Amino acid sequence: MTEFAIYLHGGAGPRAGRDYSETEQHLSVLAEAARKQALAGRSALDIVESAVNAMEASGLYVAGRGSAPNSAGYVELDASIMNGASREAGAVACLRDVVYPITVARGVMEQTDHVMLAGTGARAFAEQRGFELVPEPGSYYRLPVGVEASETEAPTHGTVGAVALDRHGRLAAATSTGGTFGKLEGRVGDTPLIGPGTWADDQIAVSCTGVGEHIIRSGGALAVALAYRGGASLEDAIQSMLDEVARLGGDAGAIAATADGQLCARWNSEGMKRACVAHDQPLRSATFVS
Ligand code: ASP
Repeated sequence: MTEFAIYLHGGAGPRAGRDYSETEQHLSVLAEAARKQALAGRSALDIVESAVNAMEASGLYVAGRGSAPNSAGYVELDASIMNGASREAGAVACLRDVVYPITVARGVMEQTDHVMLAGTGARAFAEQRGFELVPEPGSYYRLPVGVEASETEAPTHGTVGAVALDRHGRLAAATSTGGTFGKLEGRVGDTPLIGPGTWADDQIAVSCTGVGEHIIRSGGALAVALAYRGGASLEDAIQSMLDEVARLGGDAGAIAATADGQLCARWNSEGMKRACVAHDQPLRSATFVS
């Protein structure tokens, strides 16, 4: 039986000089819960879903409850999840007012023949299949940690994600976001896209965060996976994708776990909210340089 490895992120959007102790503490609690789930033999898919659920419902990050309205004045949610062992994947884009977008994405994966549902179709699917809806959207959403009210029109970003290797050697990745602040109605970034935002196969699981437009054009998570499969070290595989994002004028970050238990997080923004734990590594949580 393989041992386990887990990385969580709360986005690559933190600004130097602001206080992220609340999210660092929250990520530590979630990493500890994930560690217990892994030790109990839970699947990588369950571990990443449950960590992302907790971040979506917390309102502390730019995902789920912490999302800001688009230019038309309402929140649109994006999420994707991938099971590395089976290559099954599910995603939702421009989904309105569900509490757990990542669970709806998993529903698309497990209950339909499709990979992604978007907009009104995604919402209808969530309603029909009984996924939890936001009861009062007008009062539900809140400002995430580190974002000021005057900044909700600026291209601030956050996003949450998780990658895990479980004790049976299976990998999974999940990513969920409210997108970039001030985005146009209908805008879709990298997060719900299987490939740029989220990728998992039998070798590697990756979740990205950052400016989606640049991540999409750099290949994102799949570019990391292909570089790793091609023989690059895990650090170099992530760094080459980030270098491409930077060359295109953006910033981003990524977390990854591999089938042999490696964990890595890199970013070229000011910081990335994150926590990790593994069978042979103590739990660590940090926002800027560790
Ligand atoms: N990648 C997300 C998006 O572009 C934002 C983020 O990661 O902060 O929607």
